[in-house]
Amino acid sequence: MKRILFRVFFIIFLAFVLPVAAAHYKNMAETTEKIHIVNNVENNLDVQNSDTKNAKNDEPPASPAKNDGTPSRTITVLIHGDVHEMTLEDYTAGALAAEMPASFPEEALKAQAVAARTFAVYKQSLGTDTQHPNAAVCADYTHCAAFVDLDTEAKQQWGSNAAAWTEKIKTAVRETNGQVVTYNGTPIAAVFHSAAAKQTEAAVSVWGTDIPYLTTVDSDGDADCPKYDASVTFGAEEFRQIMLSKFPDINLTGLPKTWFTDIDTSEAGGVRTCKIGEQELKGTEVRALFGLNSTHFTIKTTDTSLTFHTQGYGHGVGMSQYGARNMAENGKSYREILTHYYTDTQITALGAQ
Ligand SMILES: [Zn+2]
Repeated sequence: MKRILFRVFFIIFLAFVLPVAAAHYKNMAETTEKIHIVNNVENNLDVQNSDTKNAKNDEPPASPAKNDGTPSRTITVLIHGDVHEMTLEDYTAGALAAEMPASFPEEALKAQAVAARTFAVYKQSLGTDTQHPNAAVCADYTHCAAFVDLDTEAKQQWGSNAAAWTEKIKTAVRETNGQVVTYNGTPIAAVFHSAAAKQTEAAVSVWGTDIPYLTTVDSDGDADCPKYDASVTFGAEEFRQIMLSKFPDINLTGLPKTWFTDIDTSEAGGVRTCKIGEQELKGTEVRALFGLNSTHFTIKTTDTSLTFHTQGYGHGVGMSQYGARNMAENGKSYREILTHYYTDTQITALGAQ
């Protein structure tokens, strides 16, 4: 997909964009490639853990409905240059439609709905975003989350399935109305990715910031992601030029097999850091530079080429969408999915935190 190429280039910029980890992929068609965009956290993921109110751990009450006299929560969304104010629930439906294939099981869709809603609330809680000071979130998948207007874009998104899948999306949102994932009572940075490599990555391994609810957990079913296994080969000179474009003083001489050294991997197997020609890089930097599907990569070389083999798709932190699909197919509820991928969290109704 052409879209992928754009996204990998954007990743370089994203390292400077958000004060929080966020990752999203946009799916415009079933089973097509998806990629995650890392909105880096290194400057600030002062996770909102100062709020020590106890979140409920049982079934949350239903959130205020729009028509019961209780004010609905609204959110401002930047879409194609215009700021739109909408209910949080409508936003959630649009983000869900854009971020997960509607063919996924209902419990997976509900988990994604809660994750998308939570992330939006989290963004709201951070205050003004310098990228879009007049809106809490934007519809740019490279920055906040993708968004599909179900009233006007469903046909384009889903063709003849538009009516059925719009209803499926809206049902997932309605059945989780107002629910968010909380840690110590506060909505979390509910990041997600397409597919992990058997285990999710801890935030600290990918972004260098320890986030207590973004730890390494087991993940099954990720290999169902069409992009789970991938290889990409660069000619030695091509590789050298890419490195020189970022590091003009780098010294890459000799055979390619000598270029990669000191590869440090995380508990989940992703590359945290490595050296290329004595230049230390983070795994995320290597991923961005070479357009890799994930930081979970190995390298094979010949005298004239280097091949990356990746497993997983996206940054690997938080909820795996294919893992969520697998859990749902095995009878797990959206609550079980969310609390599996977000460690020590609860599902809470907004306003009840
Ligand atoms: Zn944004």
